[in-house]
Amino acid sequence: MAIVAVFNQKGGVGKTTTALNLLAAFGQAKQRPLAIDLDAQCHLTHVFGVHPAHADESVYSFFVRQRPLDEVAQITKSGAILCPAHLELAKLDALLGKGVNVVTRLRHALHAPGAVPGPVVIDCCPLLNVLSLNAVFAADLLLVPVAADFLSLKGAEQVERALNALEPVFKRRLPRRYVLTRYDVRRRMSAAVVERMGAMLRADEICTTRIRENVKLAESPAVGLDIFRHAPGSRGAHDYAALYEELLGAGLLR
Ligand code: ADP
Ligand code: MG
Repeated sequence: MAIVAVFNQKGGVGKTTTALNLLAAFGQAKQRPLAIDLDAQCHLTHVFGVHPAHADESVYSFFVRQRPLDEVAQITKSGAILCPAHLELAKLDALLGKGVNVVTRLRHALHAPGAVPGPVVIDCCPLLNVLSLNAVFAADLLLVPVAADFLSLKGAEQVERALNALEPVFKRRLPRRYVLTRYDVRRRMSAAVVERMGAMLRADEICTTRIRENVKLAESPAVGLDIFRHAPGSRGAHDYAALYEELLGAGLLR
């Protein structure tokens, strides 16, 4: 099953929103995805109403104490399976370094026979740290949200550079899709960002689906809900359903 890492070194571009709603879209399709929160800010974890009291109840113990992922995972109130984050994750770079054994730890755990029956969605932090490297090494697909503003474009450029630098290690092009978020057709800047993305990135790696600016998407985490539960008739629900269908249709979620 597909392992999708939602990644961008820039913060505030819609990673957590995209991870949450992609997880929900899998749920709508009657699949039971595994959510992995690799951001010490714990936003995804909190949206699911989970607040680990101790780092050992989070993915921290998977990385530091080699605790199996299924021991760390918990079933949330909404029925999702979540490996939660904890603030202590911020210390992992200092604790673990970036050796090959360390950055491939998640990959090995997720690829072990029978380890995860369903799809996996990883919410990354806005740094290329040991956790993000674990996500990049584990992923079948890197989904890179790019918000429709100029600093986000710079972020996308940085992502391309980082992935290009990693590719000699993989000896292949890492499968990736850039998705424009917070798109507003009325703003001239949105059109300018679309144009610059087209000039900077490979056309086949830019999603046709654009996630429009939508207040319901911004509201839903506050009430602990994904967009399909919070506002099923909203543009946000429409756009995330379309994104799921596009990735599925392209064979990227198998
Ligand atoms: P990241 O995880 O990359 O830091 P978030 O998903 O937390 O980004 O999004 C940053 C902020 O933008 C949040 O307040 C979120 O609710 C809001 N947001 C994300 N996508 C949209 C959207 N399409 N429309 C409106 N607000 C959005
Ligand atoms: Mg986030």
